[in-house]
Amino acid sequence: MDMEKLVSLCKRRGFIFPSSEIYGGLNGFWDYGPLGVELKRNIKDAWWRDNVTGRDDMVGLDCSIIMNPRVWEASGHVGGFVDPMVDCRQSKERYRADQLYVFGIAREMAGAGDEHVHEGATGREFPAWVEHRVSAVGASPLDAWEAARPKAAKLLKTKPAGLGDPPAGTTALYLHLAPEERAKVVGPAADEPGTLTEPRQFNLMFKTSVGALEDASSVAYLRPETAQGIFANFKNVLDTSRVKLPFGIAQIGKSFRNEITPRNFTFRSREFEQMEIEFFCRPEDSQEWYAYWRKERFDWYVRHGLRSDRLRLRDHDPDELAFYSQATADIEYEFPFGVSELEGIAHRGHYDLGQHQKFSGRDLTYFDEETKQRFLPHVIEPSAGADRGTLAFLCEAYAEDEVGGESRTVLKFHPRFAPIKAAVFPLVKKDGMPEKADAIYRSLKRRHNVYYDEKGAIGRRYRRQDEAGTPYCLTVDGQSLVDGTVTIRDRDSLVQKRVPSDNLAGLIGDLLDG
Ligand code: ATP
Repeated sequence: MDMEKLVSLCKRRGFIFPSSEIYGGLNGFWDYGPLGVELKRNIKDAWWRDNVTGRDDMVGLDCSIIMNPRVWEASGHVGGFVDPMVDCRQSKERYRADQLYVFGIAREMAGAGDEHVHEGATGREFPAWVEHRVSAVGASPLDAWEAARPKAAKLLKTKPAGLGDPPAGTTALYLHLAPEERAKVVGPAADEPGTLTEPRQFNLMFKTSVGALEDASSVAYLRPETAQGIFANFKNVLDTSRVKLPFGIAQIGKSFRNEITPRNFTFRSREFEQMEIEFFCRPEDSQEWYAYWRKERFDWYVRHGLRSDRLRLRDHDPDELAFYSQATADIEYEFPFGVSELEGIAHRGHYDLGQHQKFSGRDLTYFDEETKQRFLPHVIEPSAGADRGTLAFLCEAYAEDEVGGESRTVLKFHPRFAPIKAAVFPLVKKDGMPEKADAIYRSLKRRHNVYYDEKGAIGRRYRRQDEAGTPYCLTVDGQSLVDGTVTIRDRDSLVQKRVPSDNLAGLIGDLLDG
């Protein structure tokens, strides 16, 4: 699937727009249009129902975005939430220095012209590239690189752990060059134009100030994750909601990170929504709960239509783990731009509660009435991105096929996620069909998000709904006026059946429940 086609469909049909587009947009910020807002809301609602209201061991929370800055000192974000950053002296662009990627082939292949190529880790231009690039036109990017390969020490075709994602529309080739090989390829070190500055640490938190006085004492941050609000409220929830271990606290909300290189559409944005759970348990049960959430969260994506062979569950190597984490796994999805993280599941021990206890001076222990012991519970954190999830479901749903000799673009969303659940059409705009269709539409609208359309040929109306991902189309025709039935057309199988029109809301409800 071609990412550019998806981005253009999203724009054309009102799923996702660049933020403040009439002013030229703002890099890393996106707006959800009328269809997109429904899609994302349906995903968040499904997550909330499956993880919070549908369970008896979870409660919800909605914290403020700006909190006492001590929260971020305790969590380690003030000191340590940094990415290494380099500037390219030639293009004046900025890159995350830990992103060792070579790009340019894909754009070159598309005929988009000269891209200069960085070898990010050493911050050097890659002059040997040009000659290989010329001979590569017409081949696939990987074939192209194969031709140039003798100069590289090692070529990795998949993203190495811990590296970032390649820029939108490019195919990334990851190279590990041993120092002596690097010297052979890029030549001896020299201060040529196009080199990158030395990496420097860049804190990703957005700073603001609270109140009328702008000084050191008014500094505050937009939260870079929703999790800390949960830890900060742990005691409040314990004291007010009669929860007993094991239990979880869940939150959906906006987070902000001043990403150095936002890219890949909404995948890496500067403002995004997270869906996070902190699941508290006894230390001795924590491995079991970690295994449970690791599987449960993976299965959730599969249940909602992500093909399991495009999903990966990648366990972190011991040297990738944060020092307090006993185990972490990422759920990754094979996006058109590469395999990238959708959600992380981390066993965080009692690190966060311990830190907040230390920094706040408050007792955050749990009293176990059975054993009469006080202790800090351990926590398992499944942390998902609502926008990344939405993007993965969009990528997965996108399909092009042929109907009656005509090509169509269709979004095959899980019906639970589809922005519009059913569309109602009169076959023609006469003979009382619009009136009957309108009555059906109005009765359905009380329960489901439905859409009425009487404009244009019926085939075109179907196509428009296919592109919006609407799973069912109901058509009122001549026979409907005689026997009260309507046709219901299935988006994916294209099968049309006649059904009575007296309980369509119930029928659609049953179909959505699967
Ligand atoms: P990455 O390595 O991709 O920057 P991360 O490991 O820093 O992600 P976490 O801190 O674990 O991400 O955040 C949990 C989830 O929040 C991620 O799995 C992702 O779905 C979402 N998320 C994090 N950063 C962004 C972002 N800049 N844009 C959109 N979603 C994000």
